[in-house]
Amino acid sequence: MERRRCAACGQAFRPRSQVPQQCYCSEAACQRERRRLWQRAKRASDADYRENQARAQRAWAANHREYWREYRRRHQPYCERNREAAMQRQRDRRQAAASAAVTEFAKMDASTPEKAVRSGTYRLVPATAAEFAKMDACLVEITLISTR
Ligand SMILES: [Zn+2]
Repeated sequence: MERRRCAACGQAFRPRSQVPQQCYCSEAACQRERRRLWQRAKRASDADYRENQARAQRAWAANHREYWREYRRRHQPYCERNREAAMQRQRDRRQAAASAAVTEFAKMDASTPEKAVRSGTYRLVPATAAEFAKMDACLVEITLISTR
């Protein structure tokens, strides 16, 4: 009978005859790993699946508020590091978006003002915002319908 190496644990196993493509042994940890990777790929490739999962997680979290409160209490240092890293990522994203907007603005051709705005997604920030960096910007999509 054919034997294969498990893609997770590396142990030899006999594939089940019902599953000719089997790459993981039947150990619970290896099956969890297989499902975890499948879900990751599915979330990356299927927007409907991703949205569904996010909605289900929000619903679950709303019905189990004490779970995450307790989790944060028991994993305080980890949660604080995580929060700081998330805030840094947000600052990095804002900085990158601002740089991209400036670059895009600089690339515009002044001699063809009718093409000044291209279709695309833009960040909308009040021009009078004194604290630009602290403002929450809106993402807006602008579709150019006509140049006149
Ligand atoms: Zn295995």
